[in-house]
Amino acid sequence: AIRRLHAADPDFARHLDHLLSWESVSDDAVNGRVLEIIKAVRERGDEALVEFTQRFDGVQATTMAELILPRERLELALTRISSEQREALEKAAERVRIYHERQKQDSWTYTEADGTVLGQQVTPLDRAGLYVPGGKAAYPSSVLMNAIPAKVAGVPEVVMVVPTPKGELNELVLAAACVAGVDRVFTIGGAQAVAALAYGTESVPPVDKIVGPGNIYVATAKRHVFGQVGIDMIAGPSEILVVCDGGTDPDWIAMDLFSQAEHDEDAQSILVSPDAAFLDRVAESIERLLPTMERAEIIRTSLQARGALILVEDMTQAMAVANRIAPEHLELSVAEPERWLPAIRHAGAIFMGRYTAEALGDYCAGPNHVLPTSGTARFSSPLGVYDFQKRSSIIHCSAEGASGLGKVASVLSRGESLTAHARSAEYRIKA
Ligand code: NAD
Repeated sequence: AIRRLHAADPDFARHLDHLLSWESVSDDAVNGRVLEIIKAVRERGDEALVEFTQRFDGVQATTMAELILPRERLELALTRISSEQREALEKAAERVRIYHERQKQDSWTYTEADGTVLGQQVTPLDRAGLYVPGGKAAYPSSVLMNAIPAKVAGVPEVVMVVPTPKGELNELVLAAACVAGVDRVFTIGGAQAVAALAYGTESVPPVDKIVGPGNIYVATAKRHVFGQVGIDMIAGPSEILVVCDGGTDPDWIAMDLFSQAEHDEDAQSILVSPDAAFLDRVAESIERLLPTMERAEIIRTSLQARGALILVEDMTQAMAVANRIAPEHLELSVAEPERWLPAIRHAGAIFMGRYTAEALGDYCAGPNHVLPTSGTARFSSPLGVYDFQKRSSIIHCSAEGASGLGKVASVLSRGESLTAHARSAEYRIKA
């Protein structure tokens, strides 16, 4: 059965900390292995990529040329999926695009009284690399969520890597890449694909930023290449926190909890409510519905290991618990979600009201489904257009402006004993 916590329990804070504790550990063995793979790709390029792809993915390619899918192959994939799937992909992509258009930041300037102009110029990255996991979980929706913001930002080239275990291509993933505007796909994966994107090989162009989730080898490689390139984040297991006032159908809530738990055994699903009888009803729904689920075993393990039903005094306390958790996904399944929204300070995405299932946001509502996990919503935000844009400062001094600033700079730089700085500024002070 799923664990029950009571916020009135004197040990509640400790229990909650324990429930939330999660560390992504890459042990020394994985670390060593990943470093070796990165080194091999840097030294031997395509040759190493082909070898690792044979070894880890069981693909029989002997040259890198066999591991490249041009844009035409993506277009072919679009004709191979059902028309229903194609329409759903296109509909979702359109909504994601429209939402993200609003995130685009524009350049700005302002002019001071002496004619000096200050501003910020916003430019897209030259090239972005998207990692799409190819093993156990292949998610076309993730392709849309990662590639569309890059394209909206104006990134001229988006390349994607996806391992193809035993050489099997996932047509839906390729079709999603087509719809999202991905330019080229390489069927490579793991640490070797991350290394190739970071450093470039004869065939794979080096990118400026690598985004997208993957297993422990991928995550560890991303940590190692950070600095050479940008990365999005190191994502932990997926989480949902549902806050319910007791007025939602308990079956709906149980299924919302399952929808996270079915991702994997480490996923976390938590329900918070001030209504004890309601928690009993949800527990009953969980027991009744669980055996009907295709992924019943994964869900059961996840709920037992990391799930919880938490009883609180009132909605105010529910908000405090939500902020402590800083969840990736927060459902406010309550009568007046607007009333409680201002109390939420940390959450990746907030799903308002009884009708807004997280699943709608996962696929097609519009906002990004790549969200901060493991409490990192305290300091970070959903993946967005801003992750593919960067800013350059602009300073354009008028003669008068340079004269005035020169005096300030002179004093400060002489205080730091940086004489060249001082004299450079002083040259520009009007006599
Ligand atoms: P993957 O693409 O992440 O990894 C496959 C690659 O791992 C292989 O190509 C191989 O290169 C490498 N690999 C496997 N065993 C290796 C070994 N012994 N030594 C060196 N390299 C090895 O696909 P996957 O394994 O199915 O993992 C998918 C991961 O992505 C899961 O952990 C899943 O939780 C995660 N995921 C997360 C999200 C999210 O939003 N957080 C979404 C989708 C998937």
